[in-house]
Amino acid sequence: MPNNHNSQLMSRLLDWYHNNHRRLPWRETNDPYCIWISEIMLQQTRVETAIAYYQRFLDRFPDIHTLAQATEDQVLQSWQGLGYYGRARNLHKAARYIGEYHHGMFPNTFEEVMEMPGIGVYTAGAILSIAYNQPYPAVDGNVSRVAARLWGIEDDITQGATRRVITSKVEEYIIPERSNECTQAWMELGALVCTPRQPDCAVCPLNQACQAFTRGKTAEIPVKKKSDPGPTIGYWIAGIVLDGNLLMEYRQEAGLLRNMWGLPMVKKAGGNTPLALFHSDYNLDLIFAGEAGQVSHAFTHQTWDMTVLKATCHNCPALNPNLAWKSWQDTIQLAVPTAFRKVLTLLEKTAYTRV
Ligand code: SF4
Repeated sequence: MPNNHNSQLMSRLLDWYHNNHRRLPWRETNDPYCIWISEIMLQQTRVETAIAYYQRFLDRFPDIHTLAQATEDQVLQSWQGLGYYGRARNLHKAARYIGEYHHGMFPNTFEEVMEMPGIGVYTAGAILSIAYNQPYPAVDGNVSRVAARLWGIEDDITQGATRRVITSKVEEYIIPERSNECTQAWMELGALVCTPRQPDCAVCPLNQACQAFTRGKTAEIPVKKKSDPGPTIGYWIAGIVLDGNLLMEYRQEAGLLRNMWGLPMVKKAGGNTPLALFHSDYNLDLIFAGEAGQVSHAFTHQTWDMTVLKATCHNCPALNPNLAWKSWQDTIQLAVPTAFRKVLTLLEKTAYTRV
């Protein structure tokens, strides 16, 4: 329960929220299923992008039962373009888990929500406070930034210890009967006013109390260690076309983009030619028709630098079981992650998929 000083600050924040918040589709409901879907989508996706995906996802999977009954492929297909596909797999697993252990009803205790696949402390706090109005803090990147500036916290906010300090302070300020609004108000202030660069302190409801503002340190706080972008890995990737169909690969092996569709690709290695590499990795004897171009795609911990080759093949009938010919129309329906969508777009631009 906040003390008098804290509750004055929260009143200013909540008043500001009432007058300024955006109308977003997930704010029109307190259905925990919808809040859950929105929170998972928003973890790595901008609000503007998430709106269209959220509505499409709910049209296709309107409730936990429908999501649990879907195949993983259908769920991934709805997710394509959003990236970080582990989120979609976990949503699917969690829907089945809720069906099995909670009779299809979304759980409403912190412990039970935390047991679901893909749920961490932040997401559990967000669902419980927004959907059930329970007094749990939800500290995401936006809230961390606001809190670090407000309380002048100069430790690295990417560290767990700093995050815990911030979380417990945010918790102290919750007005229990208004937990739902408290969570959303912090997030909204971070999204609209206390932005990473050039926060609009003049209009901020917290400016009188804000240490970063009063000490002129809004550019230095929050302190955030740069994340390591990881290595750049070079690949040859083949747009193999025969009779107007494109050879696609179902990525069954564990690792990045598992259980999704891509194109045959080989890691550039030593002085090996793509001809030799595709032969040894796929047993394909390709005939190359030049380069379609370069495609780069950054994941969290690595970047793929792909040289896209136009090709057809000699021994295509002897395909391994993960390879399949698909028409261009078929590729639109498949769960194809963004890295490979970029390659398909490039091939389409060169009209190569229609050979
Ligand atoms: Fe952020 Fe400025 Fe508000 Fe402080 S006064 S919380 S830095 S917008």
